[in-house]
Amino acid sequence: MSGFHTPIKFCSHCGAPVALAVPPGDNLPRHVCTRCAAVHYQNPRMVVGCIVEWESRVLLCRRAIEPRYGRWTLPAGFMENDETTAAAAARETREEACAEVEVERLFALVNIPHIHQVHLFYTARLLGGSFGAGSESLESRLFAEDEIPWPEMAFRSVSFALSAWFDDRRQGSFGLHTADLPPLSPPG
Ligand SMILES: [Zn+2]
Repeated sequence: MSGFHTPIKFCSHCGAPVALAVPPGDNLPRHVCTRCAAVHYQNPRMVVGCIVEWESRVLLCRRAIEPRYGRWTLPAGFMENDETTAAAAARETREEACAEVEVERLFALVNIPHIHQVHLFYTARLLGGSFGAGSESLESRLFAEDEIPWPEMAFRSVSFALSAWFDDRRQGSFGLHTADLPPLSPPG
């Protein structure tokens, strides 16, 4: 879980085994091919999503997939190549909550170094008021602040963004919120 690399066994160029080594001029161990010397870099992945507002309530999805099956989350997922972060956030919202949105502004940036991810959340306005459950969701629902099932939220980054959003809305102005999440200490 806290490993530096996701395991890679074979070179995607030539099929030979790879080994961890520090390439010349580099300062970190990388997966380097033992035959063709190709370096297989691994870098953090972007998870992007939307805080979708409709009549003072926020759209949450209940996960139909692991991890955190059955828990609530904001519509969000991995960014694809060839798309912008805002387009990715709108696409994930369409896929998971069957909702068309107008993406407004970047609201939260959360670094989670130990799982090699950066999470971005945009504020967005629901267009037309219709939504549903995509294939990765059991259901989706609009929640007022006092209805949010905080103990049943799927991810700390989502809880962080959501509570900052309700705080800002109370104060009448929306900022940009950042956080760096450390590993959770093991239970017991
Ligand atoms: Zn190779």
